[in-house]
Amino acid sequence: MSFWRLKGRRYYAVGAFFERAFGQRAWKVSVDAGFDCPNRDGTLATGGCRFCNPASFSPSRRRPAGTIGEQIRLASARLADRHRAERFLAYFQPGTNTYGPLARLRTCYEEALDCPSVVGLIVGTRPDCVPDDVLDLLAELAQRTWVSVELGLQSIHDQSLGWLRRGHRHDASIDAVTRAKQRGLHVGAHVILGLPTETRDDMIATADELARLKIDAVKLHNLYVAPDTPLADDYASGRLVLPQREQYVDFVVHFLEHLRADCAIDRLSSDAPPDYLVAPDWCRDKAGVRLAVEAELERRDSYQSEKCEVGSEK
Ligand code: SF4
Repeated sequence: MSFWRLKGRRYYAVGAFFERAFGQRAWKVSVDAGFDCPNRDGTLATGGCRFCNPASFSPSRRRPAGTIGEQIRLASARLADRHRAERFLAYFQPGTNTYGPLARLRTCYEEALDCPSVVGLIVGTRPDCVPDDVLDLLAELAQRTWVSVELGLQSIHDQSLGWLRRGHRHDASIDAVTRAKQRGLHVGAHVILGLPTETRDDMIATADELARLKIDAVKLHNLYVAPDTPLADDYASGRLVLPQREQYVDFVVHFLEHLRADCAIDRLSSDAPPDYLVAPDWCRDKAGVRLAVEAELERRDSYQSEKCEVGSEK
């Protein structure tokens, strides 16, 4: 039986994964290296994804960023003061953090790893932006530190990816995950639950596919509306109706039941800073969503992986 089940947990929270990997809690420090995105700079499109307001993703986009080393030193000192945090993961978060010349990528990642308390890298990117030479670089770094490539997979359904204006299809995600896994890299995936293009069964199909692909970690996002986005126009015009919290909790619980037991859950819901959130209101209370998911798993007497069909350990 999974160690997290033996500890009385109903899903594999990422904190438990980090404690196993690093012997104690590791804290993510968001790094803004100034990378652009092909879905914004005109390479694929200029408008970005339907939901994307870059300033809503990370505090670093709302204040001037220093060097990578300065960003890490400032944020880690704050966390050390507040939480006695000692180990940090440099999280290249805003933008597409593999989108640039290889030499620049190497310089950025190495600068983060030069910070003494950094024990690993998390590199957020798009599935269509991880060519072989970039994955080779990440695999080389993974020989001496912990490295995760975090892909904005979002959904396995091309109709949904089209609606989201992602600019890639699901076959790009399969290809990216396969090549990253061939190099032994840890792979995380972002998924949005509650898209108006999907039924609950469609969302479960995404979970089944993540299990088949042996994704190592998942970040679940409710669809939230940030200002100055096409999604905000949809919402204002009434074309978009967002799920209520109870519906979203139901989606999450069914999704978790279909994941592998060894897939760490990095996030159960998402929100934006107060001044960057149009709707839904309920997602401001992330702890409340987490407690509601745990209560629903309890009510169903169910667990992550309970309905996983690819034979992972329960
Ligand atoms: S891929 Fe990411 S950064 Fe680029 S437009 Fe979409 S959400 Fe924004």
